[in-house]
Amino acid sequence: MANQVKSDKDYSQYFQPPSLTDAKKRGKEEIAVHYDFMIPEDMQGFGKDKYYLIRTYGCQMNEHDTEVMKGLLEQMGYQTTEDKNQADVILLNTCAIRENAEDKVFGELGHLKALKAQKPGLVLGVCGCMSQEEAVVNRIMQKHAFVDLIFGTHNIHRLPALLKDAFYNKEMVVEVWSKEGDIVENLPKKREGIRAWVNIMFGCDKFCTYCIVPYTRGKERSRRPQDVLAEVRDLARQGFQEITLLGQNVNAYGKDFEDITYSFADLMDDIRKIDVPRIRFTTSHPRDFDDQLIEVLGKRGNLVEHIHLPVQSGNTEVLKRMSRKYSRDHYLTLARKIKETLPDVVLTTDIIVGFPGETDEQFNETMSLYEEIGFDFAFTFIYSPREGTPAAGMEDNVPMEVKKQRLYRLNELVNAHSKASNDKLLGQTVEVLVEGESKNNADVLAGRTRTNKLIHFTGSKELIGRMVEVHVTQAQTWILKGEIVEEPLKLSI
Ligand code: SF4
Repeated sequence: MANQVKSDKDYSQYFQPPSLTDAKKRGKEEIAVHYDFMIPEDMQGFGKDKYYLIRTYGCQMNEHDTEVMKGLLEQMGYQTTEDKNQADVILLNTCAIRENAEDKVFGELGHLKALKAQKPGLVLGVCGCMSQEEAVVNRIMQKHAFVDLIFGTHNIHRLPALLKDAFYNKEMVVEVWSKEGDIVENLPKKREGIRAWVNIMFGCDKFCTYCIVPYTRGKERSRRPQDVLAEVRDLARQGFQEITLLGQNVNAYGKDFEDITYSFADLMDDIRKIDVPRIRFTTSHPRDFDDQLIEVLGKRGNLVEHIHLPVQSGNTEVLKRMSRKYSRDHYLTLARKIKETLPDVVLTTDIIVGFPGETDEQFNETMSLYEEIGFDFAFTFIYSPREGTPAAGMEDNVPMEVKKQRLYRLNELVNAHSKASNDKLLGQTVEVLVEGESKNNADVLAGRTRTNKLIHFTGSKELIGRMVEVHVTQAQTWILKGEIVEEPLKLSI
């Protein structure tokens, strides 16, 4: 049983604490790919008659890591529960991208403290990107000593063994590798629904000055093409309707291969031939988005005409300070080329306002770039410093009130564009993948267009998981409404 630990304990003998300095190093050693993963014999059946609950914060990469952890736990015999009082294992899969994401996790830990006191046998774990940060691990050890287990993003495959340690050890179990591990191919995954995520690469080498990811996820490592293609084919056989290829910077896929020349465009060209109705990818970096990829996307078929292309700022000077490695002109040229090949493309983006030193003029360039490109939607954020990143050491001379005003102006623009782009669909018939019942009304179905727009319409529940055609009758800022016009589509890819 996992017991509480004293906060003044010297943990150094139990683990190598995560180190952002070590995580920054990019070694030349080869990444090995393992195909022989197995749940350790003594952990098979360990979860019989026990329950787990995983709370997931942050991006799709974390959602997918959660699928792997669910797969591992269920292979050990655990069952899922949404009731924290029923759970024998609770894991918080955390996100480090912004400070408020971290605050949420510490808030949740505060709530779980009482539960842990009532139920000492409960194993409480923290994993994901926050656990790769030295300051976070130290804070948990000092102030949240009731946590039983901390493990990093490179240690997920070690979950069965770590869980065993947490059950039997008297101390908090901490295993966070600062350096990335190898690629473990055959981990079990618990996927649900009709959409699946497939990791094609791990890590990031871009080191944008505001971003913690290169430190928390390690260097860029691509999965071998045959492994990605086999997984996508398998998902197609299982009937998944939509697959999203995942990576922090998917366009860098293949750049780390030394024995073959095979790029993200090559991968997309091969996946295009697999019988899955829709293929998406996220996230792409403007610097690595090349002409070959645009050409492949132009072949369409199951490659949808929606590209999420984070710009972050419309000003070249700010982009330089962010170390984004492209200019405003480069981005505009790229967007123009994409639109020439895919005139109906929907471009969405991420924008940070109030980066240290951003002037009004520089912010106005972000506004004008947004207009010029005509994005459909943007995730917008006020800059939030992350400890250990270069930007956190920059002098931030933009007052919070100014940052908030800029965000407000930008969001007004984003909303206006979203509404205008939805208005353009009024009266049109769109292909919709039916995902389920609407959250607020069980009599209404919810689905997504190829360009990822949410649409509500009335129809039989039997349509869930299928493609239908819907006539758009109402356009709001964030949602379309429509009427079904046909029986399920026969897809020809
Ligand atoms: S490319 Fe994305 S993940 Fe990589 S450092 Fe930049 S913002 Fe972070």
